[in-house]
Amino acid sequence: MATPPRVRIAPSPSGYLHVGTARTAIFNWLFARHHGGQFLIRIEDTDAERSDPALVDPILDALRWLGIESDEELVFQSSRKDRYAELAQQLLASGHAYRCFATPEELEEMRNQARAEKRPPMYDRRGLRLTDDEVAANLAAAKPHVLRLRIPDGETTFDDMVAGPITRQNKDIEDLIIARSDGSATYNLAVVIDDHEMGMSHVIRGNDHISNTFKQIHLYQAFGWEVPRFGHVPLILRPDKKKVSKRLGDKDVGEYRHDGILPEAMFNYLCLLGWSPKTDREHYTVDELVTIFDDANFNASNAVFDEDKLSAFNKAHIQLADVDVLLPRVVREYVSAGIMTEASASDQTERFRTMIATVRERTRRLSDFVSLGSYFFSFDYTYDEKGSAKHLTAEAVPLLTEFGTRLAALDRFDEPSVEQVLSEVAEERGVKRAQLIHPTRLAVSGMTVGPSLFTLLVALGRETVIERVKKTVAILSGG
Ligand code: GLU
Repeated sequence: MATPPRVRIAPSPSGYLHVGTARTAIFNWLFARHHGGQFLIRIEDTDAERSDPALVDPILDALRWLGIESDEELVFQSSRKDRYAELAQQLLASGHAYRCFATPEELEEMRNQARAEKRPPMYDRRGLRLTDDEVAANLAAAKPHVLRLRIPDGETTFDDMVAGPITRQNKDIEDLIIARSDGSATYNLAVVIDDHEMGMSHVIRGNDHISNTFKQIHLYQAFGWEVPRFGHVPLILRPDKKKVSKRLGDKDVGEYRHDGILPEAMFNYLCLLGWSPKTDREHYTVDELVTIFDDANFNASNAVFDEDKLSAFNKAHIQLADVDVLLPRVVREYVSAGIMTEASASDQTERFRTMIATVRERTRRLSDFVSLGSYFFSFDYTYDEKGSAKHLTAEAVPLLTEFGTRLAALDRFDEPSVEQVLSEVAEERGVKRAQLIHPTRLAVSGMTVGPSLFTLLVALGRETVIERVKKTVAILSGG
């Protein structure tokens, strides 16, 4: 690319960060990073009724969580209203826009007529046919009016980055309203002015915006501005093929974060919805995606958001991540689960590292580090009920006692030595290894499943193991 691109994401603060918006942000951000360009964020908050300023921070927060921030100052549409109004007047003065005095009743009648004739509703351009005198009389009578853009004859084509050339006949593009009767700009006018003044070279967004794009192209042309390159990415669907939506109970990005999804996993998974690396490999770090991101590899067909798949990506990224990257996130889970304070967690950093390395293989979510690893920090002796009925029996007492004594006497407390001692005790007592393995696991972790027992014992450390084995023996002996 000769000039590095400038792109943006333009969320409307009418809800939290939706997965579709997050995915569009990821595409734009990767495109900018891959080509050494800039990525910007614009808040589309002109619709006072639908937007809530309190949602801006959570949206930015969720984007930041994904590693996405604006390279320049944020742009708020609400602060640019005067600029839009000024440019709307400019289009009126240049003859590209005209006044329309149609009343709501007249518009309704046009819609009814279209419905009766089974054609899409379309404004009939009656404002364009008014004489100068009629316009002057309407203005003198203070009749409310809007400004509409006059769409020229012919056809409009643009070369979509995803779908290739798309053409529409201009007779099918309505003379859109650019300014309302109170002078305020409409969505399409504001977007075009902003995209132009922010220097956007490419506009990558959901394919539900294609009809806006045709209108916007005419606005660029009316202003005499260069039209950016557009790319419309496919929508994200639910497994039942409906469009992902809050109304159907779909979650926003922040909720996945609270569910223990890693941002790297979310980033990677969303990136593959509508784009492909063209290899069989699925799991990538963000840096790798920056390197390989090629905008020739967008898919035109809709993508399905599957939570199970996301969960599998999360599991993979938990395995890929550096222990020190996981550490603060896992600590946060412990603190928010009320298991320990931040201060006590920071006293046990090494213990956390060991726990993470030992149990990560079985975790799918960050919260699993709590359910599968909290015994590293305390042991309250609520043994798994079924397991304890089966394995913590009277017969286990002498086995555990002996094993404990022998572990205490070991020169080296490492996996091979621990395993050898366990085998010896089992052999001497004429039992299968499993008869000692199960009660020992329950004694030290309260659980029936987990990492290899020898890995677990070494990870917990000799002192903890012996203490827990002794306590268990005491409990079993009625102590
Ligand atoms: N606010 C619009 C949306 O959230 C942005 C569309 C665009 O990128 O131009 O869909």
